[in-house]
Amino acid sequence: MDLTRNDILYILDKAEGMKTFCKEREKEKKERAHRTILQPLKNATLYSIFDEPSTRTEGSFEGAMILLGGEVKNKKLDSSSQAKGESLKETLKVLSSFPSTDIIILRHPSESAIKEVVETSFVPVINAGNGRDEHPTQALGDIFALRTRKGKLDGLEVAIAGDLKNGRTVHSLVYALANFDIKIKLISQEGLGLPPDVEQNIRKINPKIKIEKANSLDAATTSDAVYLLRLQKERLQTDQERSSYEASYPKITKEFLAKAKKDVILMSPGPKHEELPEWTDNLPNSAYWEGIQSCFYIRMALLNLILIKQEDYPS
Ligand code: ASP
Repeated sequence: MDLTRNDILYILDKAEGMKTFCKEREKEKKERAHRTILQPLKNATLYSIFDEPSTRTEGSFEGAMILLGGEVKNKKLDSSSQAKGESLKETLKVLSSFPSTDIIILRHPSESAIKEVVETSFVPVINAGNGRDEHPTQALGDIFALRTRKGKLDGLEVAIAGDLKNGRTVHSLVYALANFDIKIKLISQEGLGLPPDVEQNIRKINPKIKIEKANSLDAATTSDAVYLLRLQKERLQTDQERSSYEASYPKITKEFLAKAKKDVILMSPGPKHEELPEWTDNLPNSAYWEGIQSCFYIRMALLNLILIKQEDYPS
């Protein structure tokens, strides 16, 4: 993700507009007046290609497109000509050459796939997760939720705990956070730390960034937000590796909350596992349900921004 601070703030403000749009729509639905709702993306079509499992990202991109009046088509790669040896690049080139295709959303297990296809696709392609690398729209949704709860971004301390190596959302998140005056605490056990190239990239974005590292959640008792990542078991090689990481994986406990800031918010890109036990679901601190809606508004904003010419884009 290489968005600037101004780009990010612009997208967050557009997402704020989308939140209002959704609220208006709810109101109109109650009054049974939904035929009058604006459909800015009427006649536009999104191709949704998910070659890894997804609930939130796939559902919200498709829902966002539908709410804006557009159409959605799904393509499963195992039923495409890839089964006959076609490359991903060619598949995307074909799908993007249809006059009916306006935008493609791609999730793929390969880290390099997205970079290869954006160069040859005839329409914009949004990265919905590329292997262990990045998940930019999730990160934008996360900082939108953070700003909504805290009313600001500058001046916050954010702890990020868990599998920082294999979790892709954290990589995009730290790139986004580095554009603000935010202290980042990275909490992980040995072997699951942030990849060195990601850390170098954050320092390129913000040479003055404050980063602290720890291996216990106790380091997060001063934080305004704690973002927890599940152990990415599907990306680990052996059961032994999985169970050894699980044994001392950071997780929210009542003892931690008793020591933490009263208004600390708990965040997660989902799905949640042991790191956020079910009893945390209804705590006022838990911001992960709003996080899902925040990602929805961000995806609406991005579809709108990409498919409709904006007169007010910041220079
Ligand atoms: N849903 C997020 C992703 O696709 C996080 C996760 O799977 O842990 O990366």
